[in-house]
Amino acid sequence: DIENVNENYFGAYSSFGIHREMISDKVRMDAYRQAILKNPSLFRGAVVMDVGCGTGILSLFAAQAGASRVMAVEASEKMAAVATRIAKDNNLLQSKTQNEGNNQCTGVIEVVQGMVEDLHKSIQIQPHGIDVLLSEWMGYCLLYESMLSSVLFARDTWLKPGGAILPDTATIFVAGFGRGGTSIPFWENVYGFNMSCVGQELVQDAAQNPILDVVDDRDLVTNAVVLQTFDLVKMKPDEVDFTASIELEPKLGSSTGNFTELIAWCYGVVLWFDTGFSSRFCKEMPAVLSTSPYTPKTHWSQTILTFQEPLAMALRKPSADRSAAAAAAAVGTDECPAARLSLRISIARATKYRSIDISV
Ligand code: SAH
Repeated sequence: DIENVNENYFGAYSSFGIHREMISDKVRMDAYRQAILKNPSLFRGAVVMDVGCGTGILSLFAAQAGASRVMAVEASEKMAAVATRIAKDNNLLQSKTQNEGNNQCTGVIEVVQGMVEDLHKSIQIQPHGIDVLLSEWMGYCLLYESMLSSVLFARDTWLKPGGAILPDTATIFVAGFGRGGTSIPFWENVYGFNMSCVGQELVQDAAQNPILDVVDDRDLVTNAVVLQTFDLVKMKPDEVDFTASIELEPKLGSSTGNFTELIAWCYGVVLWFDTGFSSRFCKEMPAVLSTSPYTPKTHWSQTILTFQEPLAMALRKPSADRSAAAAAAAVGTDECPAARLSLRISIARATKYRSIDISV
């Protein structure tokens, strides 16, 4: 039942391990820190809300960047207490009264324990009184266990018209992967023994469920295309459910050498996301947080969906000249039509709290 799942969800966030993992994710931290600290005109004097503050790290950055008031909202009781202590220990907690013992806290951070959806009960702030809405809400495959709906709720309730949301864009990408992206090669040769039955079984299992794994960009056999883009300023909450049709083209050159192969095998698709701190709000220095296989890895890894059977993408051998350049030049012409993979991918919220269903 929802109450229980809800409890488990916030319970999981009470374990320090998860917060350590997030704080150790340098790609994640650098993007947020750059967006907050390198855009002083956005933060100086601003009233900021941090949706789901955890340890409060983003609120601490916002305070450092010159915010006049930072509301750090956290549902987990334990983490709200931790964030309060951390803000206090760094002299960034707002003190309720001037003379609270010898405690000289004159900071700007207020930690509010509770769901952001229930905030009106516990704080004194005008609806639409927030200048900057800050949150790290992204889940695996962007939307799995994501808190996007809570951020959109906060936007519609607390953000002033024209106020900033960081990040303000999110994009899901998709590409096809080859045999190397599966566990088949690993099990084929284990100290000289053939254990390929394990690899086969794993591939069968993977066809039922999306799995999280790091994909090497060398294992991609197609180009990467945008599956869906979200504009956090404008999107409606129900737009998180979508179906998109895409076309993938076989990628030439890298693994096929001089391109004498006729077929590229696609074993499945890999999904990942970027979030943007675009120049719309981050005028001085925009930033991007990418979880792509082409960039340094993050704790989100990538999301892999394996096909029941690998699909053949036909590549026709160019007639005379077999150089990779000639092959690439010939693709898309009559001489060498590139086989395209047409897929329809749907992502929808599942009944389980904050879970999603993905289908290809
Ligand atoms: N901002 C922190 C933590 C991100 S994890 C950081 O960047 O390191 C997301 C946090 O949001 C978790 O601590 C979770 O308990 C909290 N959270 C999720 N949904 C929430 C909601 N609706 N209201 C308040 N807090 C929420």
